[in-house]
Amino acid sequence: MASENQIRDDLDATLRRLAGSPFRGRLRLDDRDRGYLERTGREAVLDHARDFITGRLAPARPRNDGSQTPMRGHPVFVAQHATATCCRGCLEKWHGIRAGRALTDEQQEFAVALIAHWLDAEVRRPAPATTASATKSVPTRRKPNKPRPRDAGVNQGDLFSTDQDGSSTVDD
Ligand SMILES: [Zn+2]
Repeated sequence: MASENQIRDDLDATLRRLAGSPFRGRLRLDDRDRGYLERTGREAVLDHARDFITGRLAPARPRNDGSQTPMRGHPVFVAQHATATCCRGCLEKWHGIRAGRALTDEQQEFAVALIAHWLDAEVRRPAPATTASATKSVPTRRKPNKPRPRDAGVNQGDLFSTDQDGSSTVDD
């Protein structure tokens, strides 16, 4: 069995690999995500992560696979894109977890552990100074999309409306 340290080193190594992706490496928690995380608490947020993984990733054929994870609206959504646990295509490409079959309990726990590890690391980083400087330092590839509502928390309207995951296959 792998020791705790071994597991943590593996998660660290995986996060470093993911940070090398231009798309995933630039994802950050914004002030709203940080505030939500602080108010809600780490354990409750990780319970949400477990629910998202179980409900939206674990089935052999998840509903709307490839666009089931919004780009924002919950810190776990951001973490999922950053850790390639956002859809079955990314799980397969980055973590070698085959699509088309239900995730095992162990695979689900791996995804949650990776999300937790990313969130922990992100919380330790200094918050981005301002949105303006953040957008200045990162080249954006905005598409002329309709403006999106920035609703707090998770709501049904958010679930399938804000995904850009398809674009992630272009640059990572
Ligand atoms: Zn994905």
